[in-house]
Amino acid sequence: MLGAGVAGLVCAYRLTQEGHVCDVYERWPGLGGQAATLDVGGGDLLERYYHHLFTSDRHIVALYDELGMGDELEWKPSSMAFFLEGRQWAFNGPLDLLRFGPLSPPARLRMGLAVLLLQKRAKDVAPFESITAREWIEKRMGRGPWRKVWGPLLRGKFGARAEDISMAWLWSKLTLRRQLEGDEARQELLGYPAHSWERLFDALRDAIVAGGGRVLIDRPAAALRRGDAGDGFVVTAGASGSFRAGHDPHGFAHASEESYDAVAATVPSDVFAGLLDDDLRTAIGGDYLGRLAATEYHTALCLLLELDRPFSPFYWTNIADPEVPFVGLVEHTNFISPERYGGRRFLYVANYLEPGHPLLALGEPELLAAYMPGLRRVQPEFSEDWIVARWLHREPAAQPIVTVGYHRRIPPLQTGVPGLVLANTTQIYPEDRGTNYSVRLGTAAAKALLKT
Ligand SMILES: Cc1cc2nc3c(=O)[nH]c(=O)nc-3n(C[C@H](O)[C@H](O)[C@H](O)COP(=O)(O)OP(=O)(O)OC[C@H]3O[C@@H](n4cnc5c(N)ncnc54)[C@H](O)[C@@H]3O)c2cc1C
Repeated sequence: MLGAGVAGLVCAYRLTQEGHVCDVYERWPGLGGQAATLDVGGGDLLERYYHHLFTSDRHIVALYDELGMGDELEWKPSSMAFFLEGRQWAFNGPLDLLRFGPLSPPARLRMGLAVLLLQKRAKDVAPFESITAREWIEKRMGRGPWRKVWGPLLRGKFGARAEDISMAWLWSKLTLRRQLEGDEARQELLGYPAHSWERLFDALRDAIVAGGGRVLIDRPAAALRRGDAGDGFVVTAGASGSFRAGHDPHGFAHASEESYDAVAATVPSDVFAGLLDDDLRTAIGGDYLGRLAATEYHTALCLLLELDRPFSPFYWTNIADPEVPFVGLVEHTNFISPERYGGRRFLYVANYLEPGHPLLALGEPELLAAYMPGLRRVQPEFSEDWIVARWLHREPAAQPIVTVGYHRRIPPLQTGVPGLVLANTTQIYPEDRGTNYSVRLGTAAAKALLKT
């Protein structure tokens, strides 16, 4: 298994359940991939990137139950806002939409109605696969909602590619997640594990190890080839500390080799392509490699601040003001009580950026300096004195760019080489990637591997 994110750990766990012994290679010195945690001090663990669950996330809930950890998940009311025109506008349900000043009253009604109709009637993704979200929104809701709400939201996630994003992606966001009923129609409930995501990773690791496997952190795959007799595979492991060299496996010093009957890779598409030798590239073939090369990702750039006081009243603020150089503020301790962290408060300043964006080159003090005017725009009293500690993380393969026709370019789980499977976030479709879908993907990858 290559990668100890959610998909890799779940895949190895499923294979272990079937009686196979799995080694898991992981580049980072910790488990969980994009959902990995860090110790923010005092033994408190927090995800490097803000994480929560939706009530529609049934695969991961079922996994917690299966592992006897159902009690870990707590469901709490969330609070969401939009920042534009100089203030935060609450945006939690239909009533807030009716009060949403940046849109005219008819535009608010039309937007609400369009979402409602989509949720009630559009049960199939197919009609939305050949149209951009922008085209659909402008047609069904009007230009105002695109300019003030959806355009900024999509630009937040997809940057300059916002106008090319497929309506299929937005369809799934609006229909799968937000079919909220009962009390949830007024205020959405979100889930969070009582002890962060880490316990889930530990439980999966323990099960893999109990089955005779190994979970090797700070031990990336540096290369992959077929066995000398033409059967099985040889994984070349990178030296400890390779993660400091970046993500490209060509930059890793080789440490050791090990042979396996089969390999499931859960690493990003570009990393997977970089692992293959010429023989494997030929065996996989041009069509599959072309799909890997066509993958576009945006990088998550996430500044986590520990503050000595609350920043705003909301958990989640979407920034729709073009003058502000980040896309979201996620105030974790407006969702999970600061008491859990000994009274400490945490705010994520979120960004998704295209590769090569100048903000990605900045260190943490420079980035904070670049963000300060934007932070003050949202909270005019904010000053650096409020900051107790800060951490900066960058994830290059954070967000696959889902443009029109995306479904035709998705690489299948089966690479075409018997015993070699690829399972990563680019194959999650039409849903937005998330830990829930990586649980589903990990299970599907194990099945695909057993079939080859
Ligand atoms: C900013 C941000 C916010 C998010 N918020 C949420 C949220 O609120 N809720 C939610 O459910 N999901 C959220 N997600 C998405 C979620 O974290 C991911 O979809 C999910 O964790 C992906 O799991 P994965 O195993 O498929 O991939 P990854 O987590 O990317 O796992 C791939 C693993 O492969 C490893 N790897 C890379 N190269 C090598 C190599 N050469 N050898 C070995 N290992 C290697 C990586 O280190 C990583 O551990 C968020 C993601 C980001 C970036």
